[in-house]
Amino acid sequence: MSTTVSPLSMSMKTPAYAARAANAPLEPLEIERRKPGPHDIEIEILYCGICHSDLHKVSDDWGGTHFPLVPGHEIVGRVASHGASATRFREGDSVGVGCIVDSCRVCPECRAGHEMFCEKGVTFTFDSFDQTTKTWTQGGYSTKIVVDERYVLRVPKGLDPTGTAPLMCAGITTYSPLRHFECKPGDQVAVVGLGGLGHMTVKLAASMGAEITVLSTSRDKERDVSRLGAKHFVATKEPGALDALQGRFNLIVDTVSAPHDLNQLMALLHSYGTMVLLGLPPNATGSTPINAGSLIFGNKRLAGSNIGGIQETQEMLDYCGEKGVVADVEVIKAEQINDAYKRTQRGDVRYRFVIDAGSLEA
Ligand code: NAP
Ligand code: ZN
Ligand code: ZN
Repeated sequence: MSTTVSPLSMSMKTPAYAARAANAPLEPLEIERRKPGPHDIEIEILYCGICHSDLHKVSDDWGGTHFPLVPGHEIVGRVASHGASATRFREGDSVGVGCIVDSCRVCPECRAGHEMFCEKGVTFTFDSFDQTTKTWTQGGYSTKIVVDERYVLRVPKGLDPTGTAPLMCAGITTYSPLRHFECKPGDQVAVVGLGGLGHMTVKLAASMGAEITVLSTSRDKERDVSRLGAKHFVATKEPGALDALQGRFNLIVDTVSAPHDLNQLMALLHSYGTMVLLGLPPNATGSTPINAGSLIFGNKRLAGSNIGGIQETQEMLDYCGEKGVVADVEVIKAEQINDAYKRTQRGDVRYRFVIDAGSLEA
C-alpha cells in the first residue's frame, strides 16, 4: 500500500518506488516534488538506470541511509515545464540528471567544475539534504523530478534514451578517469568486473583506441567482450589465470563492487602504471591492505575517482553523441525492480537494468 511523504514546502504528488528500511524490498510510495522555482526545470522521467550504488544505499552498506529511500541517479527524460528565469531548456527537450542536483556554486571546487567535492556539501540526487526543501532528496525511480537548470544535462540528438540513462552515472564515472589518466591508442587497459561501470569502461576505452583486457569472474560474459570493444578475456577464478598478465597494463580500471585482492591486481601493472578504483565495496577500504612493495617496485600508482562534475558530464554526453556510445541495457517494469536487484547483486545483468518510468504510474 502506498503512503505519502509531504513536507509543507512541497507540492507535486509523484509516484515512486522506495525502500522503507535497510534491505526492505522496494515498493510503491507517493512522494512530493517541489513546485518549480524560477531557475528550475520540471522533468518528466522516461527511464532510470539501476546503479550498484542504489543497492549499496538500500542495504545501508555505507551507513547513514535515510529511509524511506527512492534511489536512482541515472535519469533521462523530457522537459515538462521550466521556471520563468530558466533559459537553457525548452519544453520537450531531451535531458538527463546524474548524481548531482545542487552545490554551493561559488567555492573553489564548484568553480573548478568539481561539484561532487563542494566545500559546503554537494546535494546528491537521492539521500542527500536538499537546501531548498530542507528534506532528503529522492531519486529517479519516479515519474518526475525538479532540478535547478545548472544541474540538468542536455542529451544529444540521436542517442537511444534507454541506453543513455546509464551514461548519467556509469558513463561519467568511467569517462572521467579515462580522460584524467589520458587513455590513448595503443594503451594496454584492464577492466576488472564486467557490470554497468565495467562495460562502459570497455566501450569508452575502445573508442579512445586502447587495447582492452576484461578480467571477470563470469566465464559466460566472454562471448560479449569483442562486441563491447575488448580484445582479451580472462576468467579470474581459474587457477593461474593472471600468470601471463604480470606487468602488462598501463591502466587498470577496477569496478568491482565487493572486497577483493588489490595486491594481486597491482602486480599486473607495468612500471609507472596506474590502477584506479571505482568500485566502492561495503567496508570502506573494502579489500586486502596494500603492501608498500606493490607500489614501490615499479613506481606504480593507486588512485580513486568519484563520478565527475556537471561540465565534464556534458562533455561525456557530447562525446557519446559523436561516437554513438550508449550502454547495453535490459529495460524493466517497476514490478521487476526487486528481481533486478537480486540479479545485479549476483553479477547477472547485461549490462544495466533500466526502469521504464511509465510503469511507475500504476
Ligand atoms: P555492477 O553492475 O553490479 O558490476 C559490478 C561487477 O563487479 C559485477 O558485474 C562483477 O563482474 C564484479 N563483481 C561483483 N562481485 C564480485 C566479487 N565478489 N569478486 C570479484 N568481482 C565481483 O555494479 P556497477 O554499477 O558497475 O558498480 C560497481 C561499483 O562501483 C559499486 O561498488 C558502485 O557503488 C561503485 N560506483 C562507484 C562510483 C564512483 O564514483 N566511483 C560511481 C558509481 C558506482 P564480473 O561478473 O565480470 O566478475
Ligand atoms: Zn551510480
Ligand atoms: Zn561548492
